[in-house]
Amino acid sequence: MATINKNIWNKVVSEMSTDIPADEFALVVQEIQFESSAGSVVNLSVGSEFLRDRIMSLYIDSITKKLENYTNEDDASIAINIDVTQATKSATATSNPTPVFVPTHRDATAHPQLNTRYTFDNFVIGDNNRYAASAALAIAKSPGTDYNPFLIYGGVGLGKTHLIQSVGSGVFKSFKKMKIISVTAEAFTNEFIQAIREKKTTKFKNKYRYADLLLIDDIHFLQKKQETQEEIFHTFNALYDAKKQMIFTCDRPIREIKDITDRLRNRFERGLTVDLQPPSYETRMAILYKKIEDINRSKNISFSNEVLEYIAEKVLSNVRDLEAALLRLIGYTELLNKNITLSIAKEQLKDIVTGDAGAITNISLEHIQRVVANYFNISRNDLIGKKRTRMVIFPRYLSIHISRKITNFSFTEIGMEFGRRDHTTIMYACEQIQKRLQMDPSLEKTIQLLISRISSAWKS
Ligand code: ADP
Ligand code: MG
Repeated sequence: MATINKNIWNKVVSEMSTDIPADEFALVVQEIQFESSAGSVVNLSVGSEFLRDRIMSLYIDSITKKLENYTNEDDASIAINIDVTQATKSATATSNPTPVFVPTHRDATAHPQLNTRYTFDNFVIGDNNRYAASAALAIAKSPGTDYNPFLIYGGVGLGKTHLIQSVGSGVFKSFKKMKIISVTAEAFTNEFIQAIREKKTTKFKNKYRYADLLLIDDIHFLQKKQETQEEIFHTFNALYDAKKQMIFTCDRPIREIKDITDRLRNRFERGLTVDLQPPSYETRMAILYKKIEDINRSKNISFSNEVLEYIAEKVLSNVRDLEAALLRLIGYTELLNKNITLSIAKEQLKDIVTGDAGAITNISLEHIQRVVANYFNISRNDLIGKKRTRMVIFPRYLSIHISRKITNFSFTEIGMEFGRRDHTTIMYACEQIQKRLQMDPSLEKTIQLLISRISSAWKS
C-alpha cells in the first residue's frame, strides 16, 4: 500500500479546492496541518475544536475517499488532533474566533439514511403521544441542548420510528451543517462486526463519534451483544461530553432489558425518557382521517363515517394495525371498484379485528379478572396479588393482555387495578403474551374463548 505522505495530502487539498466554496476552503481546509501517517492512519491537526468538528462533520468522508484513491486501499482512517499553538498563529482564528461560514452545498432534497415518509407534518398528536411529540419537536429545533439523550419507548407500531425519523428530517432541514447519523441498533451492530472483521474499527469509531445527531432505533436489539454495547457506551460518552444530541428508541422500558450492562442502561436513562401509549379512539379517528387525506393527494378514495368508526373502534392495539386495516380496504375498493360498506369492512377485517367483543363498553377490569381467575381456578386475589408462581403469572399476564385488548383503559389505569402495579409492568405483561402468541398461535383461541365469556357474562 502506498504510504500517505505530505505530498499526497497536498494533492488531496488541491482537489478539495475545486469542491468547496473559496472562503470555506481558506477558512477550514487550508487550516489543516498534515502531521504524520502510520499505515493507513493519517494524523492531521487543526487549531480549534470548532474546526475539527466542522471537518469531521462535513469533509471527513470526502477526504477519506480522496486519500484512498491515492493508496488504492479502502481503509484510510483519519485522526484530527487539536494543536492550540496553531490557533495563535492563525490570524483569522484570533481576530475572529467565531467565523461565520457560508452555507455549504448539500443536496437539499434527502438525507440518505432518513426516511422522508416520516415527518412531524404527518404525525398525528393525541394524548397518547403528546409529551413525546413535543419533546421531539423541541429537540428538532435545538438539538443537543436540553434533552440529551432522548429515549422513546413503547410497544410495536406506536410511532417510535416515525418520531425519531421526524426529528432527523427536522434537523436536516434547519441545520445544514450538522452531521446526522441514523441507524437501527441492528445495523449498528452489523456494521461494527464488519469493522472488526476488516480491521477498520478506527474508521468506524470516527464516523460515530463525530456525529452531531445520532439516532439509534430499537436498542432492545443490543441485548446480549456485549461488545457492541461497549462500543455504544464509548460513543455515548464522546457525544455526551461534546453535547451532541442522541436519540434512542426501545420497545420496552430500559430497566426491563435483560443482558445490558448497568453503566449503559444508566447512560440511556440519563436524559429525558418518554413513552408512547396506544392511541385513544379519538386519536385513532384522527389518524384515519389524516391517512386518507394523505392518500388522496394522489387518489380519490372515500369512506363512510360508519366504516371509519368501525375501524377505529375495533383496531385498538397500535397505529400500524390501523394503517394496515385501512390499506386493506383501499386495496379492496380499488381492485373491485366497489364502495366499502360496513358489512364488507367487517368481512375484510375479520382477521385484524380479533374477537367480536372489540372494546366492550364500560366493562370493568374487576369483571375481567373474575372471569379469567375463574377459568384458571385461582382466586382473584392471587391473580392481582404479589405471588410470582407460574400458576398465577400466566393468568395474570393473560388477563392484563385481555384488558388492554377489549377495554380502553390505559396501562396506568390497568396497573392501578392490578394490585397498584406500575404501567411499565403492564406493558411488559402485554409483550410477554404477544411473544407467546408468536410462538404458540393456539393461545389466541384461549384468548377468544375468554373474551367471549367475559363479554357474555357482562351483558347478562
Ligand atoms: P414503531 O417504530 O413504534 O414500531 P412506527 O413508527 O413504525 O412504529 O409506526 C407504525 C406506522 O404507524 C407507521 O407507518 C407510522 O407512520 C404510523 N404512525 C404511528 N404513529 C402515528 C401517528 N401518531 N400519526 C400518524 N401515523 C403514525
Ligand atoms: Mg420502529
